[in-house]
Amino acid sequence: MTTGSDLLGRYAGAMVQVFGTPQLVLASGDGCWVTDVDGKRYLDLLSGIAVNALGHGHPALVQAVAKQAESAIHVSNFFTSEPAIALAERLLAVSAAPGGSGVFFANSGTEATEAAIKLSRRTGRTRIIALEGSFHGRSTGALALTHKAAYREPFEPLIPEVVFVPPNDAGALRDAVDDATAALFLEPLQGEAGVRELSTEYLRLARELTTGCGALLVVDEIQTGIGRTGDWFAHQASGIVPDAMTLAKGLGGGVPIGALVTFGPEVTALLTAGQHGTTFGGNPLACAAGLAVLETIERDGLLEHVRQVGALLDHLDVEGVAGTRGRGLLRAVELDGIPSAAVMAAAREAGFIVNAVTPTALRLAPPLVLSEEELRGFLDALPAILAVARERAAE
Ligand SMILES: *Cc1c(COP(=O)(O)O)cnc(C)c1O
Repeated sequence: MTTGSDLLGRYAGAMVQVFGTPQLVLASGDGCWVTDVDGKRYLDLLSGIAVNALGHGHPALVQAVAKQAESAIHVSNFFTSEPAIALAERLLAVSAAPGGSGVFFANSGTEATEAAIKLSRRTGRTRIIALEGSFHGRSTGALALTHKAAYREPFEPLIPEVVFVPPNDAGALRDAVDDATAALFLEPLQGEAGVRELSTEYLRLARELTTGCGALLVVDEIQTGIGRTGDWFAHQASGIVPDAMTLAKGLGGGVPIGALVTFGPEVTALLTAGQHGTTFGGNPLACAAGLAVLETIERDGLLEHVRQVGALLDHLDVEGVAGTRGRGLLRAVELDGIPSAAVMAAAREAGFIVNAVTPTALRLAPPLVLSEEELRGFLDALPAILAVARERAAE
């Protein structure tokens, strides 16, 4: 029988090594659980980095994809299809976007960011403001807005005139946004930075300053959108209406898809025929998956469910935990002196998949369908996991 370590040996001989050595070779999933090729089961508290919104093998998603695959997988953008139109309409409805808004479909988060960067260039301005700690993607345009030096610097020079400002700093934002600003990009909760939330006041100030200067406000909801925080989109909790929003991750429930939503007729008209495009974007297979995700979230009341289950993580009174951050089912657990990598490894051995998002914090981004009972299973196991990790880290 082929074991996980056999396969990892083959991986090392066949793949570009940008991801290092994967932790596991997974074979299958069922609901919030995954099984590796050696037959060990894990509670999946990461869901492919906030992607498998409905967990694994959800009948609504499986049936939608199977049915669409039998009919048409791809048609190109010389043509269109009903799933693409229906998903765009549904996205505009849940975005509470005004009349004259629009959707551009891409295939990933970074492509949604690229579309937003090109949109911003159509203002006639070129300066972009992004936040320290930001992550907007790895393609060379999006990378210019991604703050982490280790990701960015090996590929410089990137597009110029990107200014980074510290998050939640009103003064710095006031100083930065001006009449030369094309766009301000921000994540309502910075996922890769360790689930760091922007305050409501800051988001409202961002809206006010960009409106005042005629700059676009682009919210990156690639990680925080599609119900992840208990609202359809995280920025909605602050009452702001952005000019543009990027989506990907949870939108297809695991099928690759990204989207740019443009708010209102003026912003939507910035990109005209021939100015942007993609071969695969808006293909009926991915759009049928997206429709199944949105319909299931609505039909099963998953926004309310996410708030309810997520509330178990508002406070963790556990030795070794310094505090928690985040909303809904996008959470960070800040550790008290225990390296997150050691906790991630101990959790995995105990049958739980979590992510060491920073050296001192774990990220939890489970399927939106996670049950309270499943989450309690992890919380009950956490003290022992932390004890093992603490002991190992001390060795
Ligand atoms: C994951 C992510 C991206 C990039 O998405 P890809 O599909 O990996 O290109 C961009 N922004 C945020 C906030 C993300 O979490």
